[in-house]
Amino acid sequence: MSRRVAVVGAGLAGVTTAYELAALGWQVQVFERGGSVAEQASFASSALLSPFVPHVGDAATPAPLAWRWRRWRAGRRGGDAPSTLAALSQLGLARTDELRRSLGLDDEATEGLLVALVDAKRVAAAQARLDAWRAMGLAIELLDPDQARRREPGLNVDAPLAGALALAHGGAGNARLFAQQLRQQAQRLGAAFRFHTTVRAITTDGGGLTLRHEYTPPPEAPTRAAERDAGDTLPQLLGSQDERFNAVVLCNGLDAPSLLGQRLPGLKLAAQHEASVTAPLRLLEAHPDLGPKAGWVDPSRGLTVTRIGQRVRVSGGIAVTGTKGRSAPDFETLHRGLQHWFPGSVLHQQVQHGQSRRALPADGLPLLGASGRPGLWLNLSPAGNGWGLACGAAQALAQQITGQVPTLDIGPLGPQRLA
Ligand SMILES: Cc1cc2nc3c(=O)[nH]c(=O)nc-3n(C[C@H](O)[C@H](O)[C@H](O)COP(=O)(O)OP(=O)(O)OC[C@H]3O[C@@H](n4cnc5c(N)ncnc54)[C@H](O)[C@@H]3O)c2cc1C
Repeated sequence: MSRRVAVVGAGLAGVTTAYELAALGWQVQVFERGGSVAEQASFASSALLSPFVPHVGDAATPAPLAWRWRRWRAGRRGGDAPSTLAALSQLGLARTDELRRSLGLDDEATEGLLVALVDAKRVAAAQARLDAWRAMGLAIELLDPDQARRREPGLNVDAPLAGALALAHGGAGNARLFAQQLRQQAQRLGAAFRFHTTVRAITTDGGGLTLRHEYTPPPEAPTRAAERDAGDTLPQLLGSQDERFNAVVLCNGLDAPSLLGQRLPGLKLAAQHEASVTAPLRLLEAHPDLGPKAGWVDPSRGLTVTRIGQRVRVSGGIAVTGTKGRSAPDFETLHRGLQHWFPGSVLHQQVQHGQSRRALPADGLPLLGASGRPGLWLNLSPAGNGWGLACGAAQALAQQITGQVPTLDIGPLGPQRLA
């Protein structure tokens, strides 16, 4: 008899995990509070598909003092987690590529990722780290300004640039479209999705776990999900329901601690906020190179500019707060950053402003693996690199859950490292 697994949350982490578990023959049910996949942190991400590169950024992130202290302490512990993360991100990019090709996914992908080095000091710092990055398996190249401008011909000729790092296997795409298409593939393998369904509690009994969930439609929706989502999701009864599973995977980011049922030592999440501006690319026959070709990251300003099909997205303004905290988005700075690097590249009629938040553990690394409670697993938000890691994290975790030999030992990314 096939084994039953519940996945809580249908963002990038949940959808990729559901797909990998279904591909390994498990019977999968996904529970999602929202009405569709990729509605929260995965909704308007910066769209970068990037390998993890330690020490590449330098923009200061506003964060409460207590959080900076916790982060400093976590960073001092060291351990194997950062190098495992680097390996995982390469596995993640390779797996994303493989899924795109084998399943015919089309998420408006573009290839190429450059990191701006705006002055000689940053070029020297990058030069000094090249060998260490390459030793981690990263295919990374240091470009002079002319080489960078040849790869991104839309760059402002007047914007000072001392060089750029080119990251192989990096690029941009539409993370939400990717999640929507992968969800269909998971469904073809038998995975079932329950939208507008909130998981309230998880209890351990006998050899399994009981999951208490409740159909929680938005006020404007009809009372029976079956009427609204016919053919798209499982019909739901009203009121709390209990269901048994052999395993449960928490992929619900900031909300995961409330379902853990016990305090995991050291597990204290913060919320990392980021704002984005998305606008249609200006298409001019006389200037075919307007806008970015793929991904452009400016660590000195803390912003990212990406091409998503015929649109351009600029995101940044990262701030860290407590899990219930808010942060005022500064869209003006994002508009100025876009104008600085790619002037006149977008139309200002259909501009979309967005802001979202993601879970951030103290050391900034993902929480991946066994929770410490039998049958309960974690695949929790890997901060800014979530899409780049998602497919690799899901594959390695699904292999572990189903008792296969994992492609990569993800042990160092387990929650025990924070204890
Ligand atoms: C503005 C922004 C820009 C980003 N840019 C990039 C980028 O360029 N490249 C990159 O790789 N990563 C990027 N990231 C990070 C990446 O988007 C996230 O790491 C990733 O989307 C996290 O996915 P997730 O599935 O963990 O979380 P989410 O997408 O937030 O999904 C969690 C889901 O769980 C559901 N849920 C919560 N509690 C319950 C419950 N009790 N019952 C049922 N459902 C529940 C929520 O409704 C939600 O849909 C960015 C993130 C943000 C916010």
